[in-house]
Amino acid sequence: MEKGRFGVHGGQYIPEILMNAVHEVEEAYNKYKDDPDFNRELEELYNEYTGRPSRLYYAKRMTEDLGGAKIYLKREDLNHTGSHKINNVIGQMLLAKRMGKTRVIAETGAGQHGVATATVAAMMGMECEIFMGKHDCERQALNVYRMRLLGAKVHPVESGTKTLKDAVSETFREWTSRIKDTHYVLGSVMGPYPFPNIVRDFQAVISKEIKMQMMEKEGRLPDAVIACVGGGSNAIGAFYHFIDDAQVRLIGCEAAGRGIDTLETAATINTGKLGIFHGMKSYFCQDEYGQIAPVYSISAGLDYPGIGPEHAHLHDIGRAEYVPVTDEQAVEAFEYLSRIEGIIPAIESAHAIAHAIHVAKEMSKDQIIVVNISGRGDKDCAAIARYRGEDLYE
Ligand SMILES: *Cc1c(COP(=O)(O)O)cnc(C)c1O
Repeated sequence: MEKGRFGVHGGQYIPEILMNAVHEVEEAYNKYKDDPDFNRELEELYNEYTGRPSRLYYAKRMTEDLGGAKIYLKREDLNHTGSHKINNVIGQMLLAKRMGKTRVIAETGAGQHGVATATVAAMMGMECEIFMGKHDCERQALNVYRMRLLGAKVHPVESGTKTLKDAVSETFREWTSRIKDTHYVLGSVMGPYPFPNIVRDFQAVISKEIKMQMMEKEGRLPDAVIACVGGGSNAIGAFYHFIDDAQVRLIGCEAAGRGIDTLETAATINTGKLGIFHGMKSYFCQDEYGQIAPVYSISAGLDYPGIGPEHAHLHDIGRAEYVPVTDEQAVEAFEYLSRIEGIIPAIESAHAIAHAIHVAKEMSKDQIIVVNISGRGDKDCAAIARYRGEDLYE
């Protein structure tokens, strides 16, 4: 396969001025990815700072309640800062340090990636600036406060729909103006090569652990792995070490919002078309003229009009399935997992739970499903209460 491509997807569709920066990242990554010192430091931070390995938890009551496949939950919600985002942030920050950078910038949607970046920047003593859509700043005021508390500067982005896609565009723009001392810590498996590969490799620790834990607990591989998909980093992390195990079904759950037959959706594979945006070729939600369409989901973390190029390819070759899950189904799953297992999942992760409930019932008791719980749901409680007609702050 051509460098930086996943089938026809991927590539480096960026302005010339960014080519050098991206090459510098590629060179550094090739130099350090198999370097024993780099990997020792990475593993130590994963263990001591993040709290890895994350637990693979047998959801006994959920399994018994559904009466089908045995369900395990991969607990990325237990990581420091509450989601899988920190796996990638720690890796890229170590790389940035090795590259001699003193300042990092990042985009954020719901604020999870921004908080993780601000956190690790504080721990490593790096300067940090976060770009966040103005609309998202208002929706997630607590995360804006957290980032500032951690010492980061937060820039509300006023352009476009004032959400995640505009924050990404603005962060690329900022990088263009200041490359020498600055690394862009991209938050998902998207953007120009080598970011989809770098972010995947750091998130692949999830499936590496699942595989080992599964062998320990069950002595065999699972029959299905299910994860939610925004840009696709937690999903590719959970899939990666199973891609060559053809007997393991890989299922990504997209945010359908109010439904894939409405305009209020973010289900990229199910409603999108091939296009080029944010430095990559992939599937994007577009209007009839090919302009990026406004997307909608109750979950700010899945509210992105594109999908990482490797997922687009896994879809094309039929290796992974991508299913739409609506707001309503996700909210029901959010409430269900809270009650039945005492685990409040992120509303993003609840999309994966919703589909797992459906799939488990159709499978037999001797089959096994692993669901990736990409984050914890504290951040979503106010929004879900509002969705149910309750307002916590009135
Ligand atoms: C950011 C986020 C997502 C979506 O991003 P991916 O790159 O698709 O993983 C999903 N879950 C949580 C908890 C997040 O914070």
